[in-house]
Formats: sequence, structure tokens, C-alpha cells
Amino acid sequence: MKDHRELPYIGIHFDCCGVYQRIYRQPGQTAYVGWCPRCLRRVRVRVGPGGVDQRIFEAR
Ligand SMILES: [Zn+2]
Repeated sequence: MKDHRELPYIGIHFDCCGVYQRIYRQPGQTAYVGWCPRCLRRVRVRVGPGGVDQRIFEAR
């Protein structure tokens, strides 16, 4: 039995620090929101009406 919900996620490559991180979308939210694990810069990726096809994004 699964005890945690599967949240949709995308991969973000943070150009600021050269690190890759998954960011998740909370239920009911229309954007993926995450932070660079090193410098804590915030990124936000909006979800289009049909969702996002792309799985990896660059944060510059
Ligand atoms: Zn950074």
C-alpha cells in the first residue's frame, strides 16, 4: 500500500549553480514551484491548458 501521493514533477536545470533538481506541483496549483538547492533562487513554471510536454527546463 502506497502511503504517499504521487505528485507530478518536472526537472529543472539551474543555470545559476549548474545543478539539476526536480520540482513538484501541488494539487490544485497551476504552476510548478521550486528552489535552487544551492542559492535558493525561486523558479516557477506555469502549466498550460494542455499541461506541459517538456520534462526538463532551464532556469537562467
Ligand atoms: Zn543557484
